[in-house]
Amino acid sequence: MGHGSDVRNLQTRATFDLKNQCFIINTPTVKDAKFWPGELGKAATHAVFQAQTYVKGKNVGVQSFVCQIRDMDSQAPLRGVEIGDIGPKYGFAAKDNGYMIFNNFKIPKSSLLSRYVEITDDGTFIQKGNIKVGYSAMMLIRIQLIDSISALLIKPLLIAMRYGYFRTQFKSLPNSQDERRIFDYQATQEKLVVCLSVAWVSRFISRKCTKMYEEMLDQIKNKNKFTKMKDLHSLLCALKAYYMEEILQQVYTMRELTGGHGYLSVNEITEILEMISPNVTLEGDACVMYQQTAKDIFKSVGKLMTGQKVKGTYEYLQDIGDYMGAKLEDKDIHDLDTLIDILKASTIYQVIKVGNDLRVKDDIPFDTKWNKIHLSEIIKTSMLHAIYLTAAECLKGVESFGISSGLKNNILHLCKIYCTDNIIKHGDMALLNGYITAAQMIEVHVSFYLQNYIGLPP
Ligand SMILES: Cc1cc2nc3c(=O)[nH]c(=O)nc-3n(C[C@H](O)[C@H](O)[C@H](O)COP(=O)(O)OP(=O)(O)OC[C@H]3O[C@@H](n4cnc5c(N)ncnc54)[C@H](O)[C@@H]3O)c2cc1C
Repeated sequence: MGHGSDVRNLQTRATFDLKNQCFIINTPTVKDAKFWPGELGKAATHAVFQAQTYVKGKNVGVQSFVCQIRDMDSQAPLRGVEIGDIGPKYGFAAKDNGYMIFNNFKIPKSSLLSRYVEITDDGTFIQKGNIKVGYSAMMLIRIQLIDSISALLIKPLLIAMRYGYFRTQFKSLPNSQDERRIFDYQATQEKLVVCLSVAWVSRFISRKCTKMYEEMLDQIKNKNKFTKMKDLHSLLCALKAYYMEEILQQVYTMRELTGGHGYLSVNEITEILEMISPNVTLEGDACVMYQQTAKDIFKSVGKLMTGQKVKGTYEYLQDIGDYMGAKLEDKDIHDLDTLIDILKASTIYQVIKVGNDLRVKDDIPFDTKWNKIHLSEIIKTSMLHAIYLTAAECLKGVESFGISSGLKNNILHLCKIYCTDNIIKHGDMALLNGYITAAQMIEVHVSFYLQNYIGLPP
């Protein structure tokens, strides 16, 4: 309850009892109760949980355990365990999220999940692999969230599109008594098309994450190597934060497009909103997730500054030097490669600016700089990273997935809309650093509104 985001600081305690070869689990204060786990309130008979683990008086870190918590016949909590339902909540109404408090609860030594750690009978703690492998379960859930929630976006989009197609409002057509379709207002089209673009471009980065995850598992299982884990973990933090916020916003927008009718439960949009809104918080709060990626971005820049190379999803940062004082010049602003390049430039300039702000030598402690002075810009850095990688991956993915040329052209068109929309919203750094001119920025605006109208097939 006290530590949702900061798992490392959770206070549940597992003390190894050498004599009886078991663990004794305790919740020191009510603030340290387990709170929120799904299925815990009523249904779960077994639980996987984490605890600060002590062996021979020494803290050996947060370890994971699995054990029975309820009687299999009566469903009553076992001795030493107090469990309850946390009560009604917004979203996930069908889940019986619960709380759990331990009071000298004894579990066998075999309860320790011990593929990567082990405690011998004489109380020696042995680490057998990379302890961070525990992140892989969270990584899988984050991939599933990105994949399923971005796919779910199609539903409210379709509802809003159909509504806009049949709904008419105002007799604003020239020489006609007919009312104009909602769909034919530019403001409606803009929202629908941006939403459609997010729904499509997200498919490619989510596929990339799945592929990276499979490769990572293969590497861990077959070679006992963990080198791919950090990059994917870092990428997923930014993507999880970005997509959960972005898709929630898009669904809100679809609700707005359906007017008052969108509030009727029968239309399902409010139900979807309720279902997806906790995703911004659960499995990692967006603000916290963005910061995890930001730390890795700035670490990568630090490496580059000492002449080292950076690989994986940060590889593009190696081009920082190419963008210093550079200009887009006369590259075609309507070209997708150019638009993606502007997103890359915006991200790189943001990384340079915030990195410099954090590194500046003064009396202000780094912690103050990070948390109190530059945090909003730090978060924006990670968000731009997620947007740029999304667009770049869409272009790569379309080329490599063997998609028919008709569909490919439509997806590339949507990717252009995604890029122009994001340059308008977040491309200020490319403009401020002189990479693009004001005239080029205006051209991006113009092409955005034109593309929405005339670029798409009926
Ligand atoms: C519907 C639902 C289901 C859940 N299911 C489960 C489950 O099955 N199992 C489970 O273990 N947990 C579950 N959770 C809990 C969930 O994982 C946590 O709520 C989540 O990780 C956020 O932690 P918190 O509640 O402590 O929020 P807090 O960390 O208290 O966040 C509150 C605010 O503080 C801000 N904040 C926190 N730290 C920082 C920082 N460093 N910098 C800037 N801002 C910060 C956050 O951005 C947020 O705005 C569930 C939660 C919900 C809503």
